[in-house]
Amino acid sequence: MILDGKAVAETVKADVTARVAALKERGISVGLATVLVGADPASHVYVRSKRRTAEATGINSYHHELPADTPQVEIEALIEQLNADPAVDGILVQLPLPKGLDSDRITELMDPSKDADGLHPFNLGLLVLGRDGLTPCTPTGVMRILEHYGIDVSGKNVVIVGRSFLVGRPQALLMTQRGADATATIAHSRTRDLAAVCRAADIIVAAVGVPKLIGADHVSPGAVVIDVGINRTDDGLVGDVDFEAVKDLASAITPVPGGVGPMTVAMLMHNTVSAAEKRAGV
Ligand code: NAP
Repeated sequence: MILDGKAVAETVKADVTARVAALKERGISVGLATVLVGADPASHVYVRSKRRTAEATGINSYHHELPADTPQVEIEALIEQLNADPAVDGILVQLPLPKGLDSDRITELMDPSKDADGLHPFNLGLLVLGRDGLTPCTPTGVMRILEHYGIDVSGKNVVIVGRSFLVGRPQALLMTQRGADATATIAHSRTRDLAAVCRAADIIVAAVGVPKLIGADHVSPGAVVIDVGINRTDDGLVGDVDFEAVKDLASAITPVPGGVGPMTVAMLMHNTVSAAEKRAGV
């Protein structure tokens, strides 16, 4: 089974559109501010897609584009301005920021209730505590894909390859929350015999950034394979999973593109409307 992230993202966006419209009926509009610093082409593509999706769901998009040599203090002042702006419910600072900028400090300055990416230490702390908060878009999107296709993670062995704060670690927290109840292993570049670790998995989530790292050796027959990787190669966009080698072994697999990527954007809109509802007391 191919897990069609694009189709699942459409269902999330339809839900967001309805919630935005319901707020509008009460005289409340929803706003997402995007902050893009520098000229990284991939970041420009991502932000364009996020702005377009915001507008398609009825969310007002406020875009701030700054040159790579913008001083840290100027970006910090912009974040403070967005924190105070009642039209802004969600703030997205596109990462990575150009060298020399302190992205941790910029994230920490953000009002956690407007942290559309769910990456503020306060929100990550709530996730550790198992309390409600804004959760990181990509791993939350992975959970939503599994849920949509009725793939229950409860009691399953999940191996997550990659330990970034953006994907791998929050993915493990979401998998092991009460209610999800998976058993999670986080593998990384120092893991011994990655293939053997992965073969023990019912579900593999690959978030590595190494094209086609996960091959037939890593996948037990019938395992579910979620490919978070987006790698730009001479052959175009390639995931962290060798799709051709694995697709007949896996019981279900996400493609790249069209798998997890569209979910990340959809969950950003979900977080933004959730933030607006919370502010409105809905
Ligand atoms: P990251 O911060 O670079 O983290 C990569 C992780 O992979 C690290 O924990 C690293 O281990 C581990 N790793 C690297 N080489 C490995 C190897 N040979 N064997 C086992 N583990 C290895 O990357 P990220 O931000 O999590 O992103 C991962 C991938 O997902 C990238 O391709 C990125 O473009 C993609 N991504 C996609 C979306 C989406 O919307 N689909 C969103 C975010 C990211 P160490 O910690 O030991 O170095």
